[in-house]
Amino acid sequence: MRLIMLGAPGAGKGTQAKILADTYKIPHISTGDIFRANIKGGTELGKKAKSYMDAGALVPDELVCELVADRIAQEDCRDGYILDGFPRTIPQAEALDQAAEALGQKLDYAVDIDVPDESIINRMSGRRACVGCGATYHIKFNAPKKADICDTCGAELILREDDKPETVQKRLSVYHEQTQPLIDYYTKKQMLVSVDGTQSMSDVTTAILNALKED
Ligand code: ADP
Ligand code: ADP
Ligand code: ZN
Repeated sequence: MRLIMLGAPGAGKGTQAKILADTYKIPHISTGDIFRANIKGGTELGKKAKSYMDAGALVPDELVCELVADRIAQEDCRDGYILDGFPRTIPQAEALDQAAEALGQKLDYAVDIDVPDESIINRMSGRRACVGCGATYHIKFNAPKKADICDTCGAELILREDDKPETVQKRLSVYHEQTQPLIDYYTKKQMLVSVDGTQSMSDVTTAILNALKED
């Protein structure tokens, strides 16, 4: 199974991608996580990406496309993968099509998790990210067992700099301008599956699994 997760920032892509990756036993590839790991590690890529991310803008396509093309060519991606946060622009989608074709891979579905902007703003202020392992929590909807501590690795949980309301607004407008056109792109390719992302996390998972099964 080769899946693309679409949806606004905070729609629940990462949450669902993780569950789907466990279900299908395939890698979860999050470009946001890859950039954050590079920033933490002080790499050249991290240095280049940081200012864009902090401003709520997209990292330029040329810094993302090759990275993903290399990642999906790796051995563990042979039986499938879930792309979370990529593609985010039409040129990225075209680059992905080319890379997949060159590898003889067929992309199966683009799963759009639909959540209106009003709900996003509320949701993001409650998101907490682990500084150790990158796990994601929500203070109301998916609270850690101990406040501000990661259940998995015991490290501290923080509010991501780019999850502050001003930056979330900016990211939402970037999403509408640059990423939403992908819904049309994948509809035309008859790859789009759309689910209501305002349901509970487990209901969203059920809706996605049912939609993938039906086909
Ligand atoms: P979210 O989970 O809220 O959708 P991500 O963790 O996927 O956010 O991404 C965080 C930031 O990393 C984005 O706002 C953007 O700056 C950068 N980024 C991640 N993926 C991409 C991509 N495919 N193209 C450009 N920028 C990206
Ligand atoms: P994305 O990867 O699309 O940016 P996340 O999966 O990180 O989104 O989810 C954003 C925030 O909302 C997280 O704090 C997460 O725990 C929470 N969340 C995810 N799905 C739901 C849901 N269906 N209902 C309520 N909160 C959710
Ligand atoms: Zn952790």
